[in-house]
Amino acid sequence: MFDLIFRGAEVHDGSGAAPGVADVGVQAGRIAFVGPARRALAAREIGADGLVMAPGFIDLHSHADLSLPAFPEARNSVQQGVTTEVVGNCGFSAAPVVATHAADLQSLVAGLGPHLDWSWSTFGQYLDVLDGRRPMVNVIPLVGHGALRLAAMGFDDRRPSADELEVMRRLLLQSLAEGAWGLSSGLDYAPGTFAGSGELVALGTALAEAQAGYFTHIRSGAATLDEALAEVLAVEAVGVRVHVSHLNSSAAVWHAVPRAIDILSAVRSRRPTVHADAYPYTAGATSLSQLLPSWTTRGGTPALLERLRSPDVRAQIKVAMHKGGEAPISGVSFDDVLLTVLILERNRHWEGHSLADAARGVGQDPYQLPV
Ligand SMILES: [Zn+2]
Repeated sequence: MFDLIFRGAEVHDGSGAAPGVADVGVQAGRIAFVGPARRALAAREIGADGLVMAPGFIDLHSHADLSLPAFPEARNSVQQGVTTEVVGNCGFSAAPVVATHAADLQSLVAGLGPHLDWSWSTFGQYLDVLDGRRPMVNVIPLVGHGALRLAAMGFDDRRPSADELEVMRRLLLQSLAEGAWGLSSGLDYAPGTFAGSGELVALGTALAEAQAGYFTHIRSGAATLDEALAEVLAVEAVGVRVHVSHLNSSAAVWHAVPRAIDILSAVRSRRPTVHADAYPYTAGATSLSQLLPSWTTRGGTPALLERLRSPDVRAQIKVAMHKGGEAPISGVSFDDVLLTVLILERNRHWEGHSLADAARGVGQDPYQLPV
């Protein structure tokens, strides 16, 4: 006797085994039986003929750590069958927060989620807040390198001092002890883009000590793809499982992806410690700042906005954008840039329009849009 039984579903059990038609019985909220139809009774029966049943999907690339505290029902995920999310990717995470750089972290992640109350400081405190909101999905949290670097040295474009590196290392180990499963980095974004390989390897050593993994949004650009992978493999070499996120999301370097897969496969044939994923679609979502040369993001969002107010700097940026190679994403038509999340209320009516549309709407060249 079960509480609930699904009859005759095509069950894909997640083990990789061939699917088959089965009944699935649920008892006290747990799956208690999967197998051929039998004369089991249940308080409730659901006919599932012609339907597919599967365990919940794992979304292994999510930024929902920045939305779940406000929207714990996670409808966007649950309605797609996602029941587990790996959050805190690309160097962005909601914790740890230090008072001196709290505003930096909040501005860094402003486009990735709704307004949060930021009532936590440590990674553990953040997880307690999240637990308290009872999210509808399971969460595998990563701590972002961006959060660690901001805490140690803000948006400075330089190598860390020994003391600053020690702050990052200590916050990393503390976050791992408090529940983070690994470290993520976003090497196209400020402040991750200002980090060198030595810094990442040093943090990799801490990951190896804690037996935690490294998830990375690698540096963009076809010319640097080999170097970008070498940077990942340098971290792997200190004894860390590594995962390359969305390999490689920028359309300008799609042609180089087969070679990247060969490089990663060669390592995998010796050690199964290197993994990668790819988007199953041809669009990507990121910050508009990814169209700009990375030097424009030194000092964070306020400094970027200040630069964009200078006609001279705009002219310099326009030249760099036409030349290509200086920004993480280049060669994209403004007609293909869809504005999905705008921070300022007065700009929100452009959400859902292309950047080219917005420029036409205010009678401006896209390079001269007001900030
Ligand atoms: Zn990313």
